[in-house]
Amino acid sequence: MKYLHFKAITLKDNWLENAYIELDKDGIITQINTSKPTKNEQIEYINGYALPTLVNSHSHAFQYAMNGKAEVHTHHNADDFWSWREAMYATALSISPEEMQKVATLLYKEMLRVGYGEVVEFHYLHHDKNGKPYQYLPEMSERLLIAAQNAGIKITLVPIFYQKGGFGKPATDGQKRFISKDFSTYLTLFESIKKIIPNYKNATLGVGFHSLRAMEPHLLPAFIDTFGSEKYPIHLHIAEQLLEVKDCLEYLHARPVEWLLNNAPISEKWNLTHCTHLTDFETEKLAKSKANVILCPSTEGNLGDGIFNLKTFQKYGGKWAIGTDSHIGINPAEEMRWLDYGQRLRTHNRQSFTSETQKESGRFALQNVIKAGRQTTGKMNEEFFEIGKPFDTLVLDASHPVLSNQSLQYTLSSWLYGLDSKAYLGTIINGNFVKV
Ligand SMILES: [Zn+2]
Repeated sequence: MKYLHFKAITLKDNWLENAYIELDKDGIITQINTSKPTKNEQIEYINGYALPTLVNSHSHAFQYAMNGKAEVHTHHNADDFWSWREAMYATALSISPEEMQKVATLLYKEMLRVGYGEVVEFHYLHHDKNGKPYQYLPEMSERLLIAAQNAGIKITLVPIFYQKGGFGKPATDGQKRFISKDFSTYLTLFESIKKIIPNYKNATLGVGFHSLRAMEPHLLPAFIDTFGSEKYPIHLHIAEQLLEVKDCLEYLHARPVEWLLNNAPISEKWNLTHCTHLTDFETEKLAKSKANVILCPSTEGNLGDGIFNLKTFQKYGGKWAIGTDSHIGINPAEEMRWLDYGQRLRTHNRQSFTSETQKESGRFALQNVIKAGRQTTGKMNEEFFEIGKPFDTLVLDASHPVLSNQSLQYTLSSWLYGLDSKAYLGTIINGNFVKV
C-alpha cells in the first residue's frame, strides 16, 4: 500500500483539493481521501494538479518516421493528401521490424510525456518489404506490443484488414505490405495476433478495416458476422477526402457514412476516424448511432482534409475522441485546441466546447475525450478516477507561473489553451511516474 498526495485532482465534475490517493502494489486505486491517512505509511507529496491520462485513439506509429519529410513541396499546385500518401508509402515500404520497434518506442514515450496513457494503434503494415507475410505472421504487430511495453504505455492493437487500392481497384505496389487478399487470409493473421496479446500485460485487441475504399463492400456482412458480437472495438477511416466521397458515390451510389449507416449495425463499439466530409443529415444520423468519431486535428490540418461539422454533431449528442494519426502533432491539448479554433474561425463564435450542463470549455473537452476515448479501446467507464481502477494521471506543475496565480476552476482551460508541456510534472501509469 502507498499514498500519493496532490494539491488537487480533478474528478469528472469538480476538483478535489488536498487529495490523498491510496494505491495497492499494482497501482490500483483503493481509496481517495482528503484527510491524511492514519496508517504509518509512506506518503509521496506532489506539488501538482492531477488529470486523468488520455487515450490517443488513432495512431500509425511508423508515420512518426516521416515527421517533417513531407514538407518539401515539389508537386506544383498538386501537393495534397494524395501526394502526401505517396511519401507515406515510401516510408512504409522501407521500414524494417527493428526500425518499427524503435520508432514506435520513441513515439510512445513522447505520447506518455504529454499525457497519453493509452494508444489505439491502427495497424496495417503487416508484411515484409516484398509484400509477403512474415514467416512469423505477427512480426510487425509484436514489435508494436514490445514498443508499448518498453515505453510503459497501454495499447489497444487494432490489426487492420486492407484489401483494395480504391473503390473497385486492385492494390498498388506502394500498398503491398498492407494487403490481405481476402477475408480468410486476414482472419488467419488476426488469429495469430490474438494469440500473442495475453503475453503483454497492458495490451488489448481491437479490430478494423482500413476504409470502405480499401475493402470490397460485399465483405462487410462477413466482417460483421465474425466480429459484431465480439467485445472488440471496431475501427475504420471514413470520409476524410472529397475524392473519396465522389468515388464512393460512383461505386456504391451513396456517400461513405450514409452507406455505412445503412449497411452496418453502428453502435458505440464502432469508431469512425475523420468523418470530415459529411452532410448535416449524415452528421445527425451518425451522432444518434452512438458511434465514436475520432478526430485528428493536427494531421487533418497538415493534410488539408477539411473541418469536421462539430457543432451539428454535438447538437445531436455525438461523442468525439482524439488521435494523432500521422503524429505531425503529438500533444492532446494541442489537438483539442486545433479542433476548437477550427470551429471558432469558421463560425465566428467562441462556443464550441459547451453544452447545457457544462459551460467550461476545458472540462467539457476533457469529459468528452475521457468518455469517447475510453470507448475507442472498448472500455465504458467515464469517471475520471475510480476505486478499483489503475491510477493513471498527467500531473500539472502547481508552481507554473500561470497555475500558481490562478483559481483552480480555470486550470483545465489553461491546460487546454494556454500551456505547453513545460507545465507538466510528469505522467503516472499504474501508480508510478514513467521515465521518458
Ligand atoms: Zn489514420
